[in-house]
Amino acid sequence: MTVELISVGTEILLGNIVNTNAAYLAEKCALLGLSCYYQSVVGDNEKRLRQTVELALSRSDIIILSGGLGPTKDDLTKEVTAEVFGRKLYEDAHSKERIVEFFRQMKSKKITENNWKQAMVPEGAIVVDNHNGTAPGLILEGENKTAILLPGPPNELKPMFEEAIAPYLGRLQPEGIYSKMVKLCGIGESKAETMISDLMDAQSNPTLAPYAKTGEVHLRVTAKAESEKKAEQLMAPMLKELYNRFGSMVFTEEEEVTLEEAVAALLEKKGLTVTTAESCTGGKLAGRIMNVPGVSRVYKEGYITYSNEAKRKLLGVKEETLKAYGAVSRQTAEEMAAGAAEAAGADAALGVTGIAGPDGGTEEKPVGLVYIGCFVKGHIRVEEFYFTGNREKIRDYAAVRALTLLREELLSYA
Ligand code: ATP
Ligand code: MG
Repeated sequence: MTVELISVGTEILLGNIVNTNAAYLAEKCALLGLSCYYQSVVGDNEKRLRQTVELALSRSDIIILSGGLGPTKDDLTKEVTAEVFGRKLYEDAHSKERIVEFFRQMKSKKITENNWKQAMVPEGAIVVDNHNGTAPGLILEGENKTAILLPGPPNELKPMFEEAIAPYLGRLQPEGIYSKMVKLCGIGESKAETMISDLMDAQSNPTLAPYAKTGEVHLRVTAKAESEKKAEQLMAPMLKELYNRFGSMVFTEEEEVTLEEAVAALLEKKGLTVTTAESCTGGKLAGRIMNVPGVSRVYKEGYITYSNEAKRKLLGVKEETLKAYGAVSRQTAEEMAAGAAEAAGADAALGVTGIAGPDGGTEEKPVGLVYIGCFVKGHIRVEEFYFTGNREKIRDYAAVRALTLLREELLSYA
């Protein structure tokens, strides 16, 4: 079944408001298993709105309009749609009653004459109560086409969609969309894509789609099925295959689980604490770790050591090391990690030092060069990276790769 979205409002056309309703509705419809091939935005203009509605009805089973249900003259959605469906408007006693009730509760506001316009509904329409405003939602069922009219304000549209429209659409379309997000770290996008190209060519139900994130690749596995259980059965072989191919690079298959959460869980499982010593990331790494609620069980303190002086003072990085190899070096990263573990009394530590740019790069040590040291119970591994992008991107990459490195070391720690 196909659905098409029409967002009504000159404000949207002018860019005065962002069309968040369309994003919200598109996502919800996809989850309900409806295919959305077209979305459009049209201003508060009778002729163009009628054309848009007619075109949408000519090519989609269900159209969802948002906005233009209000009390003013430029609110035309209901009038125009009713006309296209050949329905007259009449005053709905129930809607009128609800408007009176709404204003009674809002004490401060008075009903104005034009509010009664909102009690006018098309003949034969299903009237959907609006618990957060005065304009009711409307469902117009034609012979094999349906129009759903929703108020523009998101705080009215969203609850109405959740409460009444989603269940209505669910009855029309018994198959829902279920998905898993297989998240990978420690692999680039193009490599990951190459490794699944055969699966992508062969996909039907479930489907497989890669998404590149900073330092991570996410693979969305989506199944269309009548129940979650059935969807899980459909997705199981694909998930198994992805685990076979990517092994320990998979850190979760749950949409909401982040890399830092996976790492924190691993630390808890192994009964280890961690600390961080950051130069170029300047707290970004600690910030990522701090995203995890309850992380104080495994993370007690950390260090931002931007200057050489701070690296010496707080982490005990040796003067000779800094002199001989420089602050951005394998040796410094190693001493930062070991020194941080010692200073914080932590089992594990990450030391990050690099050149985030835009200045400060040399031929030998270009912008984007980052060393990350990872200490776990006396064992140290240092990795060298050449990241590309602007200052922020390089720092983001460094933080992600530090988490990835820690994760790898924890996995190999017995
Ligand atoms: P009202 O009774 O408030 O007039 P309405 O149903 O007539 O509601 P509009 O007049 O089109 O809706 O829009 C009212 C407000 O709702 C807009 O000013 C805007 O803040 C918000 N809004 C409308 N359409 C959208 C949209 N597509 N995305 C996000 N917000 C929207
Ligand atoms: Mg309006």
